[in-house]
Amino acid sequence: MPSVLIIEDDADSRRGIAKLFAREDWKVLEAGDGDTGVDLAVQHRPEVILCDLLMPRSNGFQVCRTIRQQLQPTKIIVVSGRDYAVDRASALEAGADEYLLKPITWELLCHAIDRLLPEIPHRSMVTKSAAELRSVPPRLKLWGVRGSLPLPGPTTVRYGGNTSCVEVRADGEIIALDAGTGIRSLGLALEKEFGPQPIKLTLLITHTHWDHIQGLPFFSPAYNRKNVIRVLGYEGARAGLGTILAGQMETPFFPVSLRELPSHLAIEELKEMEFYIGKVKVRSRFANHPGICAGYRLFTSAGSIAYMPDNEPYEPLKMQLATRGGINGDEARDFAAAERGKMVEFLHGCDVVILDAQYTDEEYQQHVGWGHSSLSSVVSLALDANVGRLVLFHHDPGHDDEMIDQMVDQARSLVSKSGKTLAIEGAREGVEILLEAKLSAK
Ligand SMILES: [Zn+2]
Ligand SMILES: [Zn+2]
Repeated sequence: MPSVLIIEDDADSRRGIAKLFAREDWKVLEAGDGDTGVDLAVQHRPEVILCDLLMPRSNGFQVCRTIRQQLQPTKIIVVSGRDYAVDRASALEAGADEYLLKPITWELLCHAIDRLLPEIPHRSMVTKSAAELRSVPPRLKLWGVRGSLPLPGPTTVRYGGNTSCVEVRADGEIIALDAGTGIRSLGLALEKEFGPQPIKLTLLITHTHWDHIQGLPFFSPAYNRKNVIRVLGYEGARAGLGTILAGQMETPFFPVSLRELPSHLAIEELKEMEFYIGKVKVRSRFANHPGICAGYRLFTSAGSIAYMPDNEPYEPLKMQLATRGGINGDEARDFAAAERGKMVEFLHGCDVVILDAQYTDEEYQQHVGWGHSSLSSVVSLALDANVGRLVLFHHDPGHDDEMIDQMVDQARSLVSKSGKTLAIEGAREGVEILLEAKLSAK
């Protein structure tokens, strides 16, 4: 059983902190002044000492200095109500390992202890239960919405500059769709939310084009061994998923190799087109995009979400080939129609669909065969599939905020012209979509 010494002259706050530790099975020692604290420390040699700064009979700085001279391995956490830089610097100089500001929470303490003493199993009692996770409302959050290249700057502040990453929370699962640069912020948010508790997450990769994996080396939960990360995706055209993901972290590109990441990170190649992540059923469909690229539909207890960030409709592509005389026109049209029908079926009745809308119709004319969609083709696909909400995704690096506003307007006017209803928005970094809210609004 690990032990902690709390040196604090305010009896109420001392007992409050003592209770937090006692609840987690720590042996707790208490001292109401500095000198008593030093005596108890030397006598019991606790793993952790929490020490106030302003106390009678030796202040916190003196206590730190004295204890540090006598006990090297003990970790000292100074707890203060004041946030003066000079106090912090003096405390660390006196021998403190950490400086925390009051009021103190268990999460704050765990975070500090986890960093200072990773071997102590203090977190065993505070692991978030599946039930607690389930209490997070089913939702998705957009962390990166761009295609091809990150684009930070004044022209993209509203929609955001990070590449593809969407977080889905449902049925006790945390699922990240793609690992573009947006996954960096997701990692930081998860660490803040979970503190010292382990994060269990599934990363579902559509394909390994750089804009969908380049954030993985900067995903901070991968650097903490308490976390369990499962990476799922299909084998690439030229190499396996693991080889490609490790490739971008090889020495010439990055200082830490994939193998060196301390978390429990497992890469699994998908073989089936339907599988489960916990209770969430996932159906896959290969996209029309260079190499191997999949789209996913997640069936949660609060509705379904489809994510198809890179995809080109077959028809213009096939018809272009037919015009050049490469293939028979009728056959090309039939093939394209059949493929479109399968896509409509894949998306049919989905509550939220996040689709590749990289180009305006005019731009698309110059980009047939590049593997991305035009605005009108995406809108018509969503209308035919009778989806609840369309999120225009994978913004072209050439599109600034105003351009995306215009595309959203154009998409909405296409819906009006069709006489149908369909909610449309441009994917915007930081936006959360609550699945329950969507369902109750039906
Ligand atoms: Zn892409
Ligand atoms: Zn791609």
